[in-house]
Amino acid sequence: MNSHLPMQRQAHRPISLPLTLALLLAAPVYAQAQEAPRTAAEVSGFERTSTHAEVVAFVRALSGLPHADRLRVESAGTTNEGRDLLTVTVGAPLPRETRAAEAGTRLRILINANIHGGEVEGKEAVQQVLREFALGEHEDLLAGAVVVFVPVYNADGNDDLSRRNRVSQNGPEEGVGKRPNAQGLDLNRDFVKVESPECQGLLALVNRWDPHIFMDLHTTNGSSHGYHLTYSPSLATNVDADLDGFVRTTFLPEVRAATFTNHGFRTFDYGNFSRGEEKSWETYDHRPRFGTNYMGLRNRLSVLSEAYSYVSFEKRVAVTRAFVLENLRAAVGHAEEIRRLCAQADRRALERDSSVRFAWDTQLADGHVQDVLVGTLSSVEIEGIGTRRVVESGFHAEPMVVRDGFTSTKSVALPAAWVLPDPSAAVTAALAHHGIEVTRLATAAEVEVRTFVIAELERAERPFQGHHEVRLTGEWTSVQRTLPAGALVIPANQRLGRVAAQLLEPESEDSLATWNFFDERLEPAVPGEPRPVYPVLRLESVEGLVMGGD
Ligand SMILES: [Zn+2]
Repeated sequence: MNSHLPMQRQAHRPISLPLTLALLLAAPVYAQAQEAPRTAAEVSGFERTSTHAEVVAFVRALSGLPHADRLRVESAGTTNEGRDLLTVTVGAPLPRETRAAEAGTRLRILINANIHGGEVEGKEAVQQVLREFALGEHEDLLAGAVVVFVPVYNADGNDDLSRRNRVSQNGPEEGVGKRPNAQGLDLNRDFVKVESPECQGLLALVNRWDPHIFMDLHTTNGSSHGYHLTYSPSLATNVDADLDGFVRTTFLPEVRAATFTNHGFRTFDYGNFSRGEEKSWETYDHRPRFGTNYMGLRNRLSVLSEAYSYVSFEKRVAVTRAFVLENLRAAVGHAEEIRRLCAQADRRALERDSSVRFAWDTQLADGHVQDVLVGTLSSVEIEGIGTRRVVESGFHAEPMVVRDGFTSTKSVALPAAWVLPDPSAAVTAALAHHGIEVTRLATAAEVEVRTFVIAELERAERPFQGHHEVRLTGEWTSVQRTLPAGALVIPANQRLGRVAAQLLEPESEDSLATWNFFDERLEPAVPGEPRPVYPVLRLESVEGLVMGGD
């Protein structure tokens, strides 16, 4: 897919220009003459946050700084209201294109900010970090990594500023954007169905950049805890176990320690105090509709960052910046191991290794007792607006059960392939957005297939994100069936085999079926007649089938 190229050309002229030797020699003088640009938050004394246009102007103004040749501004798409999905690639040297093969042996990282329009400190912190790169700082990080930043992902939501958004949040005074995009979609619930132009643009970028690490920068309200920021790895249960073990037991603990030692900020696994009889600390959700959960299924490392809403805006920006830098430092420090783990997870998927299974029936895993910092909040009435919450300085440690992961009770080996005898255009397009490899049957074939006979179809009464979510239960059975020429075949032995399973398996807890992609195939043609079988079949072997391209 080359559709991003015209967008790049029309949207943004790269700001980096090859520097002549003369300019290089003159750089220190030039740096003094040129004042580094300041963000809208900094200029206002952290009373306000940047609009999309101000972020664009800021990153363009970085072109005056001595190491601007390390930055390239591009666009990954266009929002509903016509704003550019701004990206900034940073490397020393800058890769010729923002494409995986161009990064050489350096680690590839993608950092997304402002997915929820009212959660603004990632956007502000990213601008600061970009300025530091353009000033020549963090050379040690750029020696080992190329980083792509998306400073203002939900650009339309960001610009719908109001003091009435996120009222309980501790600033900025002049208000923040709204949570959803211009379609009314929560972009951090869109990673399975991919309905927004933002997610389509981001996944196209992910497909060509293939980041080893994905970070998503948020702000969290909720329980009264004693941390400046909480974080989470992918919570999907269908991730590679070695990669998951590394991020949980090595990577994130190291980032947490460094964020405290080097910056004085307290961080911990994301969670909230449970309302159960015994107080515990529980994480959120395992489903891949959430971006960082999804990226785990792609055999990559991901980190959710949640600055604490009741800490002052200025401090939230500072802790988010510190956390981003310490993630980059830990990534570069473990670059070889991360590359090896990602490659190993890919190989397991490609070889349909026995460790690659599809699991469902998922619940919070048993935890372990640990000290959790409990904080206190005070309330401040903002006239005519509502109640703001502000952290008090004191906090104390309480031992309690920490439940920071999920477990699935049922699992099955992957088939050789899934087949859709008669796929809809919407399903084909969704698979393409994810980058799933597909092929077609060149000639009709009679084969033994596994079909899922639906026993129960449960449709949520209340709409969510414009959908009535579907849940299926049933039984697999083997039958002889003639598959037509042109049937869509999705081999399981591909790098994204785990994603394919998640999207296509009928018992998946977050799949194309969940989001109504198969609805018309799930209802009986004649009311009262038995339901048709699930429209995705399993093939235990593809031997003898003649495939004819995609
Ligand atoms: Zn959020």
